[in-house]
Amino acid sequence: MTDSDQKKKIVITGDRPTGPLHLGHYVGSLQNRVEMQDLYECFVMIADTQALSDHFENPELVARCVREVFKDYIAVGISPEKSTIFIQSKIPELFELTSYYMNLVTVARLERNPTVKSEIQQKGFNESVPAGFLCYPVSQAADITAFKATLVPVGEDQLPLLEITNEIVRRFNRTYDTDVLLEAKAVLGKVDRLVGIDGKAKASKSMNNAIFLSDSQEVIKEKIFSMYTDPNHIRASDPGKIEGNVVFEYLNAFFEDEAELKSMKKRYEQGGLGDVVLKSLLNETLQKLLNPIREKRESIEESEIMERLEEGTNRAREIARRTMEQVRNAMSISYWTP
Ligand code: ATP
Ligand code: MG
Repeated sequence: MTDSDQKKKIVITGDRPTGPLHLGHYVGSLQNRVEMQDLYECFVMIADTQALSDHFENPELVARCVREVFKDYIAVGISPEKSTIFIQSKIPELFELTSYYMNLVTVARLERNPTVKSEIQQKGFNESVPAGFLCYPVSQAADITAFKATLVPVGEDQLPLLEITNEIVRRFNRTYDTDVLLEAKAVLGKVDRLVGIDGKAKASKSMNNAIFLSDSQEVIKEKIFSMYTDPNHIRASDPGKIEGNVVFEYLNAFFEDEAELKSMKKRYEQGGLGDVVLKSLLNETLQKLLNPIREKRESIEESEIMERLEEGTNRAREIARRTMEQVRNAMSISYWTP
């Protein structure tokens, strides 16, 4: 490793293998990862243990989606040569680290976290929140700090979680009088929160309200044509509303000709632009974006997936192992030299 390599900033991010990845991931995080892998040392984690915290009854689905998420990575241009892609559950050091961090955060703090709070509500856990789910932000703190990452390309929902990570980092360093752990900063995507195709605040796998990167041309078209626009915009000549209009939200995110989009918005507001025209334009835009991604995805050799993931996981584990030694030393619980 050269000097300049050693000075490279470290990036980590990941996804829960609870379904294939969607356009929200693309604009929220994947695009940034592809750019960042040429500039920094990048780790990309498939968070299967975290996925089990609300899918513990369906581990087969999680295992299947590990492969799907890996394929999505390759399809959008995350390269296993440039980025270290790994599986969370295969790195036991992360869970040891989580145990130590559990002591540095209160249950009340976790319950107050707005992202966790809204997910608990959305999943209908009510009073029966699994402890594993409530504590996933602690495990996320372990994932980030084990690799000494300082940059985390994520969507907006992750900001409150990153705050908990940084609180744990400060508390650890202060408690054990060390500087072993580093604070991390979020890097938000082009769109920090893509709305769902149903108009809900966030497109997400578990709400099944997203256009997936692997959707067929027909499914994409169907989803676009079922999007919510403005219920009062009945005839093309009626004036329409842009705000809360899902089709415009998606055009904002994916249609690149800003001047053209601006003029279309004006025409829509004045009356004279029909929903079908608008949806056809969005369909054309998204098909152009997703066709090559789907093709690349289909060309991936199934037999190579686990081999690649094993290589990445071994590489990642080595780094986590080193951090764990430093952590144990800082806490005076090394006992003997490994
Ligand atoms: P789940 O419903 O299982 O939680 P998800 O769709 O929320 O799935 P995650 O795996 O939780 O996806 O999120 C992975 C990354 O993608 C995170 O950084 C998250 O912020 C980002 N992300 C997810 N959905 C969106 C979205 N709609 N807009 C922008 N970023 C998103
Ligand atoms: Mg999520």
